[in-house]
Amino acid sequence: MTIRDTSAHFCPNPACAYRGWVGWGNLRANGHPSGGPWRQLLCIACRGYFLETLGTLFHGKRASVDLIVHVIACLAEGLGIRGTARVFEVDPNTVLQWLVEAADQLRAFARHVLHDVRVGQVQLDELFALLSAVKDGAVSAAEAIERLERSPAWVWVAMDPESKLLLVIDIGERTLAMAQRVVHHVAQVLAPDCAPLFLTDGFREYLTALLTHYGQWVQPVRQQATGPAPKPRWMPLPGLLYAQVVKTVRRRRLVRVRHRVGFGTLEAVNAVLAPLGCQINTAFIERLNLSMRQHVAAVGRRVATLCKGEDGLRHQLALFQTYHNFCLPHAGVRQPLPQPLPTNGTGSAKQWRPCTPAMAAGLTDQVWSLREVLLYRVPPWPQPVGV
Ligand SMILES: [Zn+2]
Repeated sequence: MTIRDTSAHFCPNPACAYRGWVGWGNLRANGHPSGGPWRQLLCIACRGYFLETLGTLFHGKRASVDLIVHVIACLAEGLGIRGTARVFEVDPNTVLQWLVEAADQLRAFARHVLHDVRVGQVQLDELFALLSAVKDGAVSAAEAIERLERSPAWVWVAMDPESKLLLVIDIGERTLAMAQRVVHHVAQVLAPDCAPLFLTDGFREYLTALLTHYGQWVQPVRQQATGPAPKPRWMPLPGLLYAQVVKTVRRRRLVRVRHRVGFGTLEAVNAVLAPLGCQINTAFIERLNLSMRQHVAAVGRRVATLCKGEDGLRHQLALFQTYHNFCLPHAGVRQPLPQPLPTNGTGSAKQWRPCTPAMAAGLTDQVWSLREVLLYRVPPWPQPVGV
């Protein structure tokens, strides 16, 4: 799929029989109206015209495309809203507005692409986040931090440690209700018949959340010859595997790691992990936490980012999720090239094909630039072909 042709576009006209469908060959590029940067597309079915940016962040903006892309890229790389605004000499409220629009679009993109995912493992974790309540100097930094300590928020993450694909990012309290919400979302992203090995930290509410979503009614066998039949019981699915990684830390040093199997047997858990050459651990997700602290300003530092509480953080996390999954090649999942490619300079030959988590998970076959993701017009419903 490339942005330059018309094959990823769809007609937006509600009265058109081709509306919302991608790849039906009904669209023609029709030049750049009044010398603008964007093509006009013509639908030959309904004779309607629309710009190729319709429905994206760029539609109707007077600011240059490069400026908007660079601002969003800066936010994705972890510079706060105020910092980004200073670098590009743009009003912070404009930066925030673009972030909100970009995040809306990226959430739609994630919904469009992240479904029927097949993975062998899912690691779940919660990460403590500091939400800045500082709004345009309305409260002092000290006051903001005090407020935050009264209402701590947690960033909840579900990822596949093999492809490094971020399945779900959410924020909320560290409660059973949130564990239920996150596991529910994971179950929606995964293919209906995909039951991976779940690995979590020691937070005990995961057990209930997993049992809720990966359970079934079982009729116990009657023990006595007479009397009423025993009541059916809600039991974990026979294939469900779940293990907790319990760590003991003393004086900031990890002294012991214990594995507690929640559902299934230790042998079955090890059978999933053994071919991958790794034992039960949540090291992957902890590395991700580090990268998230670097990429999402509000998570990383006690700074007065113009991040309007929980909503602002939600937007930055939506941006981070898609940037991580589709745009950033990950060293841990790179693929060897069949033949090394010579480079233009004097450097050594290229040995590896850059690979993003979404490529490793088989969701796409290309590294996406942030510009391409932001220009992608998300169709209104699922299409028979992916991205
Ligand atoms: Zn049409």
